[in-house]
Amino acid sequence: MAKKFVYFFSKGKSDGNATMKNILGGKGANLAEMCSIGVPVPPGFTISTEVCDYYHKHGRKYPVQLQKQIDANIAMLERSMGAKLGDSKNPLLVSVRSGAAVSMPGMMDTVLNLGLNDDAVIGLGKKTGNERLAWDAYRRFIDMFGNVVMGVDHDHFEEKLTAIKKKYKAKQDNDLTATQLKELVQQYKNVYKNHVKKPFPTDAKKQLMSAVGAVFSSWNIERAVIYRRINKITGLLGTAVNVQAMVFGNMGDSSGTGVAFTRNPSTGEKKFFGEFLINAQGEDVVAGIRTPEPIAQLRREMPKIYKQLDSIREKLEKHYRDIQDVEFTIQEGKLFMLQTRTGKRTGLAAVKIAYDMVGEKMITPAEALMRIEGEQLNQLLFPIFDPIAVSKAKKIAKGLPAGPGAASGHVVFTADDAEEWKKKGKKVILVRHETSPEDVAGMDAAEGILTSTGGMTSHAAVVARGWGKCCIAGCSALNINYSKKQISVAGVIVKEGDYLSLDGATGEVMLGDVKSTTSPVISGVVENNSTAKKSSIYKMFIQVMKWADQYRKLNVRTNADTPKDSMAARRLGAEGIGLTRTEHMFFEGERIWAVREFILAQDSKTRETALKKLLPYQRKDFEGIFKEMDGLPVTIRLLDPPLHEFLPNDTEGQKEMAKRLKISSAKVEVLVKKLHELNPMLGHRGCRLSITYPELCLMQTTAIIEAACNMAKAGIKVFPEIMIPLIGTVNEFDYLEEIVRKTAKRIINKSKLKVEYTVGTMIEIPRAALTADKIASKAEFFSFGTNDLTQMTFGYSRDDAGVFLPEYIEKKILPDDPFQTIDQEGVGQLVKTAVNLGRKTNKKLKCGICGEHGGDPESVKFCHKAGLDYVSCSPYRVPIARLAAAQIAIEDSE
Ligand code: PEP
Ligand code: MG
Repeated sequence: MAKKFVYFFSKGKSDGNATMKNILGGKGANLAEMCSIGVPVPPGFTISTEVCDYYHKHGRKYPVQLQKQIDANIAMLERSMGAKLGDSKNPLLVSVRSGAAVSMPGMMDTVLNLGLNDDAVIGLGKKTGNERLAWDAYRRFIDMFGNVVMGVDHDHFEEKLTAIKKKYKAKQDNDLTATQLKELVQQYKNVYKNHVKKPFPTDAKKQLMSAVGAVFSSWNIERAVIYRRINKITGLLGTAVNVQAMVFGNMGDSSGTGVAFTRNPSTGEKKFFGEFLINAQGEDVVAGIRTPEPIAQLRREMPKIYKQLDSIREKLEKHYRDIQDVEFTIQEGKLFMLQTRTGKRTGLAAVKIAYDMVGEKMITPAEALMRIEGEQLNQLLFPIFDPIAVSKAKKIAKGLPAGPGAASGHVVFTADDAEEWKKKGKKVILVRHETSPEDVAGMDAAEGILTSTGGMTSHAAVVARGWGKCCIAGCSALNINYSKKQISVAGVIVKEGDYLSLDGATGEVMLGDVKSTTSPVISGVVENNSTAKKSSIYKMFIQVMKWADQYRKLNVRTNADTPKDSMAARRLGAEGIGLTRTEHMFFEGERIWAVREFILAQDSKTRETALKKLLPYQRKDFEGIFKEMDGLPVTIRLLDPPLHEFLPNDTEGQKEMAKRLKISSAKVEVLVKKLHELNPMLGHRGCRLSITYPELCLMQTTAIIEAACNMAKAGIKVFPEIMIPLIGTVNEFDYLEEIVRKTAKRIINKSKLKVEYTVGTMIEIPRAALTADKIASKAEFFSFGTNDLTQMTFGYSRDDAGVFLPEYIEKKILPDDPFQTIDQEGVGQLVKTAVNLGRKTNKKLKCGICGEHGGDPESVKFCHKAGLDYVSCSPYRVPIARLAAAQIAIEDSE
């Protein structure tokens, strides 16, 4: 038997079905399915995507059997409709539409009203009793066929239309009479002939085959290729072609056309949502020539049709078990469905629809979880801009969406100003080239942070995400002038005090104070607000997270440096701390002076004296964190960044330091110069600091273990995990482990308590990953610091890669930013190697990840597959990580 290339569909009978998207395309498969379940659809046939594949592989030729199969299907269609293609008395008109397995809206071509010629137009006029409609359909067909099939510029037709409207003083297209349209058809045919150098084809079958070829060819036109590239659509055979009997929504006041969603795609509310136009064709709705009416109005205007449409809505949802996006046409009081597909939706709607459908017993909780994307869930957690306000706002630049939510405020350029303005009750946006740990108080005071340099793991990005604060980083179009206190960008000058709005979801920077709404989830979950807890969004979030926890295998921890962040993370579901960066505590209040004294010291005794001042602060910090994390593990990392980060880099600050520490400004300057490194990220940092200054490791261990003992005494369950950063060789680990264990033992013995702790390391250097068996024979846990591991594996500076990475991604040199989504091929291989080697020598080795990737859904899924025990991420990414971990566990079990 010849291979089947053409699939017929008509009421109650179809060759295809919804599962055949690969060969029938989404539209064709769903038309077939709708016919089978008794939804009224104009009959037709689908030419498969395999033909498209063949056509492109064989120099635009078709398989030999195709023409015969098309002819047979035309005959069936003619019988079904009681009309004949190209007939002068009873012509059958068809639409020819594209439709790939994945929706590519508007990317490929469509031809409507096919089958008309000088005879058929008369027949159509008589048959419908509507001569005007017939001539209007004909002129639209010549335009579309000329444009889509033969490449005649649409403007040439448009010019004639405009001229004839002017000639007959017609305001709208609809005002032209049948005679005037007939005149226009003649002009259109001339336009066609002038450009194509051949008369307009009169043979309907030839018209059809040319249109089919044009649709197949449109698979490879530039915009379609670009669309597939941007949306990462690969592995498809091509587009299918759907040939379907035409129905007319423009046959008078008992006709019409519309588009609708079976639920509200913005809010998820279970309410029919859409719009329609009486006496119009589909393209009129899309073109926005007339304003459509809301679907509820149809109930009043055509109650019977509305009732039928509403029952189809229910039928389709029950059948597809998801929100549908439909197109329909009413021809003289008769309803036809022209398309159904899964509806695109906002984050809020995605969660609500999935949640509601579980309640309606349409889907299971596991299916609901699989339908929610991480970023959709995220939309529930943060303020979002009003979409209408955004569409009206002036966008001046775009950077990396580094921290979530929406923020508006007055522009300030220093962290101090941010604090001061905030004290005066003003909302501010802090704008910097980049931020440094010195700026944290100002960053905290700001509604949002905007930087011109730095990537997704820059200081600003990491800190902002940790707080759930809006941040746009690496916005390189900004020209920031600190001394003039202004930004120049895209021909606009933004001065101190001017309003800017930042969209943390898109990275867009907008002028003015754009309207936004707050999140009841954050008020309810993090701030414990009882009113917010009554909101349906809050309840829905809690339930969805409960489902996720039932499925996931990975533990989810958080990266938190303060009791406040720890509390927020725990409320958002964190099961411990995977990383406390102790350096973030070194800046607060008086303690920075003790840190600077330590750096200034020339001998270990003076260093110890300075560190003694720091000890009580650190102990108190850790006590606070242990208390918040009662019963859960807390990983605390020894000091990591290079010391120059703790010194002031401006003259004003250096003068202040000289005064405070009673030394000369020159000495401070010398010190700053001495600590200057050409490559600080590869320099004197991480475990290297504690190896040169063992007293640092001693002080920090003391603070951690004393805090643990104090809390244990107060009845808190503590599980400290002391983490040594940036290990490259096992000897570094050995050296510091000994100091840690000796110190801890002494304190615990003295306390007479039974406090247990573990000592482990970060795996951030490729050498550590490759020698993980040796390191694991001593270390009790590994935490993959994939920010540094990515930096060192690629050799890309994490602070500077923003300059070239966007271009790398655009030119497809890299699929994604490796600082956001883990590079499974390279960095991932090191992670897997380290886990496998490590567990060879230490079966109980606990493995986790604490780089920014811990909050990225794709990376979380990788961590599950690599056999990690947990992921650790910023507090406000915890829900996304819980969801992603559940999704991969569900996928795994299927
Ligand atoms: C890392 O390198 O992945 C990490 C968590 O450490 P930091 O970002 O503090 O260097
Ligand atoms: Mg690191």
